Amino acid sequence: MALTPERIVGDLIDIYQKVDQGQRLSYEDGVRLFQSPNLTAVGYMANIVRERLHGAKTYFVRNQHINYTNICNKFCKFCSFYAKKGGPAPYQMSIDEVKTRLEWHRDANLTEIHMVGGINPRLPYQYYMDLVSVVKQTLPGVHVKAFTAVEIVEIARQGKVSIDQALADLIEAGLDSLPGGGIEILSDRVHAQLFGKKLNGEEWKNVARAASKLGLKQYATMLYGHIETIEERVDHLVQLRDLQDETQNFLTMTPLSFHPEATELEDIPKPTADTDLRNIAVSRLMLDNFEHIKSFWIMNTVPVTQMALWYGADDADGTVHEYEITYKEGEFGNKSQVLNRENMIKMIEEVHRIPVERDSLYNEIVRDEPLKKERQLVPLNVH
Ligand code: SF4
Repeated sequence: MALTPERIVGDLIDIYQKVDQGQRLSYEDGVRLFQSPNLTAVGYMANIVRERLHGAKTYFVRNQHINYTNICNKFCKFCSFYAKKGGPAPYQMSIDEVKTRLEWHRDANLTEIHMVGGINPRLPYQYYMDLVSVVKQTLPGVHVKAFTAVEIVEIARQGKVSIDQALADLIEAGLDSLPGGGIEILSDRVHAQLFGKKLNGEEWKNVARAASKLGLKQYATMLYGHIETIEERVDHLVQLRDLQDETQNFLTMTPLSFHPEATELEDIPKPTADTDLRNIAVSRLMLDNFEHIKSFWIMNTVPVTQMALWYGADDADGTVHEYEITYKEGEFGNKSQVLNRENMIKMIEEVHRIPVERDSLYNEIVRDEPLKKERQLVPLNVH
């Protein structure tokens, strides 16, 4: 018997028809996609949208993450990164130290520096300006993607200026885009229970609107797998979609898999591969006005990211030097989490997708640079 779309999607046929005709899915459709036992059907439909937009292309970027301080006064319950008694020791990088770290990877042909940190009330306004400008001075031409909305609010508070003014000053210093994050999930209930000291959903949206007004591109995320319900995930996606209708300013949406280790929620089991793939797929299906859906391999692991490239994701993020956010102090002996260019290409080609190096704005980069011989996936410091 032929394997027809009708047989694959089963009782999701009405949603399949909307997907086939390019129609917007409703909130109720999103809930059904999360509840359906037929993950294959959900992935199949997400892949139709992914291939309609990008064919087999899978984007990656050469980037370095810098987490400039882990001192933070927000105490989010899902966070293992901030300094606390019995947890990670506090640190705060000087501008010289940031410069040194940038110089470590000067030969890696990086095109993006991604910087986020804790909310450290001892850092003055000028520190943030210097943080951005030292990147531009050390690696001219590189794209600076930095600061969640929570940091933007703190920077404005430090400078005693408006959000608009803080953003304008950061742009002047060299800021190119905002990485997203800071709200985790747009739910007042989850906000009150897990991250009540951070900005709320409306405040987060206002930072996004201010960035949009200034032409500062941004990215969006959703942290799932903690205490949120399926309905709250779908509501988050619908709110992002509405904001994108309004601003047309988001480049990518990244569903982020929660890592409970060393957090106040460590009794919650890690999300399964089903949950990771379903969040990618439903995001792809609900966010019809987002060009790109990313599977961040550090959060999702390499094998799940490879699968995700058939479940709606068209981006695997980057080579990522030094990522400390979901990282247990001392667990691996160093803080380097890297897939080099050859590894990224191997990861993508192994699942029969076409690797495309991109810059932060999704311009394709073609390099006259031979691939190195060793193309095995190296043992990685990832969970
Ligand atoms: Fe601080 Fe960010 Fe961690 Fe919250 S998630 S505690 S704001 S570093």
